Amino acid sequence: MLFSITAAFNTVTDISPDMLAGLGIRGLILDIDNTLADHNDPQPADGVIEWIERMKENGIRMIIVSNNFYLRVKLFSELVGIDYVRESKKPFQKGYKLAAMKLGLPKRALAAVGDQIFTDVLGANIFKIKMLYTMPTGRNNRLMRIRKAIEAPFIPKKIYCSGGLTTIDHHLLDAITYKEN
Ligand SMILES: [Mg+2]
Repeated sequence: MLFSITAAFNTVTDISPDMLAGLGIRGLILDIDNTLADHNDPQPADGVIEWIERMKENGIRMIIVSNNFYLRVKLFSELVGIDYVRESKKPFQKGYKLAAMKLGLPKRALAAVGDQIFTDVLGANIFKIKMLYTMPTGRNNRLMRIRKAIEAPFIPKKIYCSGGLTTIDHHLLDAITYKEN
């Protein structure tokens, strides 16, 4: 199962501490581009700063693992106050291993959060951690529409949630698909 998704969300800010507790997740490996911010936008997306604070208050450990260039990752990570792994080369494992080590948590307590099938989703599955899929921010530009068209067939229709397997149509991902226990 290389493209399993534990739960899918409209935006990263829809992920709540309660949901994470329900899934046994205590640490998040976060993507930047189109997840925490629009692509190469130095500013976080709406509500992201507050969301990060809420996660921290609830004891959720976080680390940024991005494939973007070093300065982009460093500046953004420092702005939001989260540690990072440089030149992570997702979906390869080195970045995830380093991130897990820095967080000091076992794999079962970790989840990757991101918007790309062939980096974030694939990487999380190869590393064997949970995957929280978020719909890409800034999805209205032409490049994003092309990317989504390429990825669409690979977005699994079966979404795994804490309560077990639930089947959804991926075109309905805009509607929140998290299922309570
Ligand atoms: Mg991304």
